[in-house]
Amino acid sequence: MFSAQFVTRLSKAQSVVAFTGAGISAESGVPTFRGNQGIWTKFKPEELASMDAFLANPPLVQEWYAARRKVFREVSPNAGHVALARMEKLFQRFTVVTQNIDNLHHRAGSLSVLELHGNIGRSYCLQCYREFVDDEIELGSGLTSCPTCSGLVRPDVVWFGEQLPEHEWAESVRAIESADVVLSIGTSGVVFPAAELPLLGKYHGAYVVEINPEETDLSRSMDEVIRENSSIALPELFRLLERAGVQQTETLR
Ligand code: NAD
Ligand code: ZN
Repeated sequence: MFSAQFVTRLSKAQSVVAFTGAGISAESGVPTFRGNQGIWTKFKPEELASMDAFLANPPLVQEWYAARRKVFREVSPNAGHVALARMEKLFQRFTVVTQNIDNLHHRAGSLSVLELHGNIGRSYCLQCYREFVDDEIELGSGLTSCPTCSGLVRPDVVWFGEQLPEHEWAESVRAIESADVVLSIGTSGVVFPAAELPLLGKYHGAYVVEINPEETDLSRSMDEVIRENSSIALPELFRLLERAGVQQTETLR
């Protein structure tokens, strides 16, 4: 499934970035945005995931996010998330840079996670910026307002037309620029600026590998493409790395 060059580059890498998108969570039962099972076949993104849409109809947008949070809570990390959490321990620096808002990397045990598009488990008040986590405030069924100031409460996710969180973006760029290997996993590579990251990695000399069952806008720029689901490819990659590690230790003895 993987070239010898890739396995060698990865087993010698000091710094690795796994850049992930909705595809890594597809096998946990979270629908992706694009493709047949996509969320957007029912709603158009611009109708819900933007500040204009929210201000036009806050209860509708709050309710939609409440429904999505329910889905996210009921699903579990899959073998792909778990393999990334295990890989983290094999490298000096291993960073997950994710476009997902579902919290599944954290739940799988990854420690170094940069969330570029926020996290659906958090909300905040547009007026006084009070933050709410998880069940502190339940959005949905009618308008939910801030208990402190009655301001509008919105999910802490990045909407269309909004800036990415500054710290997460800067840290992601830093990690990518010093990465020896970048894995681009389950992302269609059409949401910018996030999609620039694998290309930035390549520019800075990283070996860039896509793991995705389908071709994407990024495929042509990759050093290698693995046409496989992430729940199959990532555990296999982890096994190979472990094996490579064992061999290395034996040679040293
Ligand atoms: P996308 O929906 O545009 O693309 C998903 C990609 O995953 C596709 O290229 C598809 O071929 C691939 N894929 C499908 N099944 C896969 C599998 N089993 N293994 C590996 N790859 C698989 O997703 P995107 O590029 O992340 O962009 C969508 C935007 O939507 C992001 O900004 C993200 O914030 C948001 N989003 C997040 C979630 C989530 O948090 N789980 C879900 C949907 C959308
Ligand atoms: Zn408030």
